[in-house]
Amino acid sequence: MIDTHAHLAELKDLSQSLEEARANGVEGIIAVGSEMESNMRTLEISGAYQKFVYPAIGYHPLEIVEEEVEKNLLFIRTHVNECVALGEIGLDYRAKVRKEIQHQVFGELLEIAGEFDKPVIVHCRFSHRQAFNMVSEKRIRRAVFHWYSGPVDVLNELLERGYFISATPALRYSPPHQEAIKRTPLERILLETDSPVSYQGTESRPKDVRMTMEYVRVLKGLDPERVTQQTTISAYQFFRLSSI
Ligand SMILES: [Zn+2]
Repeated sequence: MIDTHAHLAELKDLSQSLEEARANGVEGIIAVGSEMESNMRTLEISGAYQKFVYPAIGYHPLEIVEEEVEKNLLFIRTHVNECVALGEIGLDYRAKVRKEIQHQVFGELLEIAGEFDKPVIVHCRFSHRQAFNMVSEKRIRRAVFHWYSGPVDVLNELLERGYFISATPALRYSPPHQEAIKRTPLERILLETDSPVSYQGTESRPKDVRMTMEYVRVLKGLDPERVTQQTTISAYQFFRLSSI
């Protein structure tokens, strides 16, 4: 299994968490960054755990600070070629950051993704329609809408465009997330944990991607082997991991 979305830079127990993940059958982790500091740390961690931790760098909409936009974008542009994807990026309409700035930053990050032909890991909270429109207008070829819990019409359109959604341990209790996973073909689902996010009071770690797999297989009535195999193949292809 591959945990396709973990904030490893935020883990205090990093080496232990990575060991536990390996012991639980996790063969790879996509580590995502949120701003300058976590991006730098993410690159460092992936350098120390090559062929196990693969880096993505980004600028999370909740982390945007107007005065720091330029330096963050410059860092990303300079280092994007060392990464398997851009993320975490997107729009969050519950964030205090002004929408105009969020749109501007997301737009510029999508430009970079297009220019370097990198996939994007999209955060879209209360902004599914707008985030999807921006990604498709920029003609991004590979996109995963992380922890998708949005409207069904946007889901159908994004699937038609060939995009992916990702499943998290929130499948245990979130009806809109369950609904999205039920409606999405297995071939378009990636597994993740969003570690160290807490689900009903328990902090997650990459090993919990097994729980995500379990929820997906129960919801879809499939064998665990089938879900594990397909989502792993999809992660390899989506992030082009074999070429690294
Ligand atoms: Zn995240």
